Amino acid sequence: MPKQPSDPIVQQRAQAAGETGFPPPEVIYVKDHRVMCDGGGGALGHPRVYYELGDEGFVECGYCDRRFVLEGGPADER
Ligand SMILES: [Zn+2]
Repeated sequence: MPKQPSDPIVQQRAQAAGETGFPPPEVIYVKDHRVMCDGGGGALGHPRVYYELGDEGFVECGYCDRRFVLEGGPADER
């Protein structure tokens, strides 16, 4: 059987996926209780949505899994 030529990019991606499964969600620190997310726009974007941070001090975007953390709030673990 002739060996298929291997694409290094595909190999790299497969390797990265094997290590992490998926990219870790981005954490965005905000100073306001009201946040807007559109996924960053472009190909990775999604419809613009607004969230209100509750007593927990954070909210996760239902579209892109970004986590918005209130600066100095209970969820700010920096
Ligand atoms: Zn989002």
